[in-house]
Amino acid sequence: MRKKIVAGNWKMNLDYSEGISLFSEIINMVRDEKNGDQIAVICSPFIHLNSLSQLSAGIVKIGAQNCHQKEHGAYTGEISAKMVKSTGCEYVIIGHSERRQYFAESDSLLAEKTTIALQNNLTPLFCIGETLDERNNGSYYQVLESQLENGVFGLSAEDFSKVVLAYEPVWAIGTGLTATPEQAQDIHAFIRAKIDAKYGMNVADNTSILYGGSCNPKNAAELFAQHDIDGGLIGGASLKSRDFVDIVK
Ligand code: PGA
Repeated sequence: MRKKIVAGNWKMNLDYSEGISLFSEIINMVRDEKNGDQIAVICSPFIHLNSLSQLSAGIVKIGAQNCHQKEHGAYTGEISAKMVKSTGCEYVIIGHSERRQYFAESDSLLAEKTTIALQNNLTPLFCIGETLDERNNGSYYQVLESQLENGVFGLSAEDFSKVVLAYEPVWAIGTGLTATPEQAQDIHAFIRAKIDAKYGMNVADNTSILYGGSCNPKNAAELFAQHDIDGGLIGGASLKSRDFVDIVK
């Protein structure tokens, strides 16, 4: 059975006290409304991680949005996977399209980040997705395949089994344009077939693949009902407790 996961990505929003109060609301609501086998995660800015981990009581899991690829050292302003782990956090987003786009994070860098995250017992939420141009010119299958190939398919089967994937079409992120359930299912099935070809059916069947991109309480149920969609990575809607918890529900 694949894990069903809804992960919020707060991005660069919420100061310290705003983060604590939103998280407290989410915890109180999720406590009553989550089914036992679902996993809810909040990926916050680094400044919140430790406090959220202490408040979470295991009801909501905590994730970071990034980590550095090196163990430690003279990298002013950076945060290592070990530091992230030491806050009590369990997940880390790797390869979000905003990191790829604005911070020039390449597939090979993301492969390094994934490896160090796994070495520190963090679950990578590894994101892939095509731009609008790539969707329109029909190259998106190749783009996604190469992001998988160069980002995570260098891992052993054992390590890959610990990764959660997220398909986030860049044209759907923060735009209000959601992939249709059929478009998303088509890509999720494609991704699962690639995992099958690389690691075999057992690994493919057990890999959670989340959808992200303008997911909201209105479209979540239909998206998550698709055979190969195992939950969502939620940006804007994770900044409102009711919306996020409705998506979890
Ligand atoms: P969005 O963002 O839900 O605001 O489109 C999703 C994401 O970037 O993870």
